[in-house]
Amino acid sequence: MEVLKLDLNCIKNTYKKRPCDSHKGTHGHALLIAGSENKIGAAIIASKACLRSGVGLLTVSIPKSEKVSLATSIPEAMFHFRDELFDFSGFTSIGIGPGLNQDDAAQKLLYSVLIKVKNPVVFDADALNILAKNQDWLSLLPIQSILTPHPKEFDRLFGEHISESERRNTAIKKAKELNCVIVLKGHKTFITDGTYTFENTTGNSGLAKGGSGDALTGMITSFLAQGYTTLEAAKLGVYLHGLAADITLQTQSEESMLITDVIENIGLAFK
Ligand code: AMP
Ligand code: MG
Repeated sequence: MEVLKLDLNCIKNTYKKRPCDSHKGTHGHALLIAGSENKIGAAIIASKACLRSGVGLLTVSIPKSEKVSLATSIPEAMFHFRDELFDFSGFTSIGIGPGLNQDDAAQKLLYSVLIKVKNPVVFDADALNILAKNQDWLSLLPIQSILTPHPKEFDRLFGEHISESERRNTAIKKAKELNCVIVLKGHKTFITDGTYTFENTTGNSGLAKGGSGDALTGMITSFLAQGYTTLEAAKLGVYLHGLAADITLQTQSEESMLITDVIENIGLAFK
């Protein structure tokens, strides 16, 4: 199978300009289920990246104890506290996993998403780790969902692999089998829906730090909410995330770069 380069040409055919007469309802309402008491930064990073990628409205599902830190760092978002009963309808996309934890409450929450939600969902981080421990839940994935594992998460889900090329072959097979898009993250992130395969051309080792993947989840969830298809949302998210990191090299080094700097450059990446 030919691996297509995820480059500017490819993205120009995917990106749709925002209509000048749009309103917030035009651009979707995303729900991010992220963060836990000692990993609330993941929710903040994913939310900021989601908002910087164009979504109309964002609700973040967090533990109630974290309300103040979230509300002060992201005044643009709305909140849902996890101890309330929750209706997942009304959102145009859902992203779940960054900093979520793998405790009983997180497992129950993930299971209720799997059985109640019919639209595509972005699964990342602890959502993937929970799926890895409950392999039979993989058959419940809403069709055209997106899985965004790094190599370790990928191996937890689908078994140990000795090379990246082996991992890519399994990704193609599993994407077809599960009717989903797999984003195998790394230096040259690989995206597949089981039929088409893409290799990213942006990004640098400044992204090899905690929090980078949380931003990517926010971005892909944002594009999905705005009406892009699953494959388009994955491609736009991966490409622009890497490009924002490359732009960050103009003012930071690979060492000094923070994911919050990268998020601030999503705007220049769009331009
Ligand atoms: P995570 O491990 O979940 O935080 O995700 C890391 C993110 O940073 C993914 O989007 C990776 O593709 C990206 N990343 C990590 N290391 C590199 C690298 N050396 N070159 C380019 N991108 C990278
Ligand atoms: Mg991660």
